[in-house]
Amino acid sequence: MIDSLARAYCDYYGALGHASVPAYSLLHPAFRTSFVLSAGVIDMEQRLAGDAAGQVRSVLVQPCFRHFDSAAVTSGRHLSLFVMGAALYFDSPSPAAVVESLLRFLLTELSLPRDRLWLTTFAGGDVSGSEIPADDESAAVWRAVGLSPGQAVRCGGTQNFWREGANSGEARSGLCGPHTEVFVERCDPVACTASSCRPGCECGRFLEIGNVVFPRYRLVGGRLETIPWILAEAALGLDRVAMVVEGKDKVFDTSTLIGYETEVLRGPLSEMSDAHAIAIILDHVRSFCCLVAEGARPSAKGRGHILRRLMRDAMRAAGCQSSPPHETLVEVAVLLLRHPEAWCTIQIGSRWTEVLQILEGELRVLASTRALEHRA
Ligand SMILES: [Zn+2]
Repeated sequence: MIDSLARAYCDYYGALGHASVPAYSLLHPAFRTSFVLSAGVIDMEQRLAGDAAGQVRSVLVQPCFRHFDSAAVTSGRHLSLFVMGAALYFDSPSPAAVVESLLRFLLTELSLPRDRLWLTTFAGGDVSGSEIPADDESAAVWRAVGLSPGQAVRCGGTQNFWREGANSGEARSGLCGPHTEVFVERCDPVACTASSCRPGCECGRFLEIGNVVFPRYRLVGGRLETIPWILAEAALGLDRVAMVVEGKDKVFDTSTLIGYETEVLRGPLSEMSDAHAIAIILDHVRSFCCLVAEGARPSAKGRGHILRRLMRDAMRAAGCQSSPPHETLVEVAVLLLRHPEAWCTIQIGSRWTEVLQILEGELRVLASTRALEHRA
């Protein structure tokens, strides 16, 4: 499913003049202590720095790893490693045209139901001491694509003003600007006590599947500086789009991941009943193996520490209900080998033996540490 969505996304934007470019390694040097967090951000920075020539419009499908999402995988809607499509514009595009193109892809190419699509746009207001105007152009797009006015919601800076690195805590360029978010409303009713339940509400009624970022400012010394308006990025979380297209409520129930999940639930995790623990194990083992295949190694700091934390949390989850937990996690990883479609477009292939050796070594260290802790 992810492969076909990726092809459809690239073909659609290809027809709009976007040149297809390859994904970056998850260990791109722009992220010294972390991994590539979202598609398009590297191209944006390079282009604004003036050190990269290239296409005026491009499209890429990028595996992304977000360590800050690893604790949220029990929601069934998050993966720490996922695939994001990004269409980039470096020609001062009209915000309305960028948002409309993304919505038309969802409505015409993927046939998502029009009455379940919601849009949030920046309402304007004070950001870091500067008065930023509302994004009226994006807000008006609902009419062009046939949404009802109630499906377009204006939100303040907390929700609809993008700041690069705000989630990761890894500030780099200071790029920021208004952004537009696209949500899909769930089919089944959700009980919500909020007086004005709308996209962004914690109840889970709305699933964010994509956004459009308009970086028009740079945060310098706590103040916003306007930058020449040249670019926009329209991004889609393809794993979440797969959930919607296939009518699934949990990301591990999509066709890309279900085979892998089914095998591990019948095999090494068959004794487990804690759904949260299972989600943590499936997600973290998968991410660990893919990141190691990309060249990351466990260590005491930076990226290596993130890897170590993934396995520590997976061990903790497995330790509740399986024994010995490190052997369970190795069995889960071995089953992953049979499902290359679950590897987030990353080529583990010939590196599998090395990946497994590193995983086993890391788990042995963690198991002996746990044994010492229990003895103390
Ligand atoms: Zn709600």
